[in-house]
Amino acid sequence: MDLRSPFALSLTSLPRQEGSMISWQAELSAPADLSLEMIRVPEGSELAINFNLASVSEGVWVSGTVKAKVEGQCARCLRPIQDEQELGVGELVYYPERRQALVDEGDEEAEEAPVVDSDHIDLEPILRDAVVLALPFRPLCREDCPGLCSTCGVPWDELPDNHRHEVFNPQFDALASLAIQLEAEESEGEAGVSENAEAEVE
Ligand SMILES: [Zn+2]
Ligand SMILES: [Zn+2]
Repeated sequence: MDLRSPFALSLTSLPRQEGSMISWQAELSAPADLSLEMIRVPEGSELAINFNLASVSEGVWVSGTVKAKVEGQCARCLRPIQDEQELGVGELVYYPERRQALVDEGDEEAEEAPVVDSDHIDLEPILRDAVVLALPFRPLCREDCPGLCSTCGVPWDELPDNHRHEVFNPQFDALASLAIQLEAEESEGEAGVSENAEAEVE
């Protein structure tokens, strides 16, 4: 961790004694890659961070909220989404020796867990986890977004209520083909009659 990074949070004011707590507020510019496939916190946009840091036996429990601008695309109608969201955070950052103890016990997940480094916490992975946990994988412009007209691909929200396309109507089509069939049979019948008539003449 680069200790000069704005995302390196110093723990010097947090006593290591279990139960100690400090609150920490900051406004930071969002790092790159706070994103899911269809929604993201734009790089450089303002993050309003409001955290509580608590010393626990295993490390430092980081909790609180991050207010962030969110940009994306509706998964149904594909129109742009712009929003502001308050993302919840709750993450244990281990003391290195505590994490090592868990790894030694065979806890494979602990290997990936964040650790306190040189009395600092790296906020970037915590922010990334908050985004991944809080933002929807399929974002919607509104809860009941009706999506796109399947025929012309225009969002229903931008079409008039009476928007229709000429649709294939199976009932009408069956009647039409019956009429064609009857006509054909009729003319066949006429042909038959005339053939018979000719035969009679012979
Ligand atoms: Zn939509
Ligand atoms: Zn349409």
